[in-house]
Amino acid sequence: MTPKEWESLCDGCGRCCLQKLEDVDSGLLFYTNVACRLLDEHHCRCASYPDRMQLVPDCLLLSADDAGQFDWLPASCAYRKLANGQALEWWHPLVSGDPDSVHQAGISVRGRTVSETEIPREQLEDHVIRWIDF
Ligand code: SF4
Ligand code: SF4
Repeated sequence: MTPKEWESLCDGCGRCCLQKLEDVDSGLLFYTNVACRLLDEHHCRCASYPDRMQLVPDCLLLSADDAGQFDWLPASCAYRKLANGQALEWWHPLVSGDPDSVHQAGISVRGRTVSETEIPREQLEDHVIRWIDF
């Protein structure tokens, strides 16, 4: 798979760019509706994608070599689905042919987030979400 093909697998949902909390006892991961400061909340894309690793050092680079460790990604994520041998959903732009289908299907975070610049870390627990398919 070429780098361009790899990148095209991203459906543009923006879910992986939400802050997460991990239960230290159970190891369970909880997503919040608090978005990384670089997330463009309308387009659900990184506003500085080429420079993201310098601007947000804890941003994670997804690589096919790490596919066995994609469990932290949302269940809807194409990278996680393919790693688990699952097919892409109808709303994935590569299936629908429409980049807006991920928003129309309610999979993306559009209109449902607040920026991390507005929420102190100690308040993250108040923002845990349980969206369908997470
Ligand atoms: S969760 Fe997966 S498909 Fe959605 S934006 Fe992140 S990498 Fe792309
Ligand atoms: S730096 Fe960009 S890609 Fe990384 S979490 Fe933030 S918005 Fe997402």
